[in-house]
Amino acid sequence: MKIETINKLCCPFDKEDLTLTTITKDVNENILEGFLFCNKCNHLYPIVKGIPIMSPDEYREFALEKPLLEKWQKYLGDKSFENFRLTETKVNKLEIKE
Ligand SMILES: [Zn+2]
Repeated sequence: MKIETINKLCCPFDKEDLTLTTITKDVNENILEGFLFCNKCNHLYPIVKGIPIMSPDEYREFALEKPLLEKWQKYLGDKSFENFRLTETKVNKLEIKE
């Protein structure tokens, strides 16, 4: 998927802008693998083979996405993935200001 198209996407839950992390691109700079993250509701949307997975939670399968997240762990840092959302696992949660 082209980066310009991805930049137009917003979170289907709260219409917030999404933060893109690119993992792999093809020669035309299309994003093949990566993820989109909503800073408001903490939802994470994987991009697999160029397609962002943005279906409602009930149509997503955690078991299918978990191996991807494990593969991408170094890009996620100390965050863990639960119920299609990222959760902080360390003390820095207390430092987030509203
Ligand atoms: Zn959201």
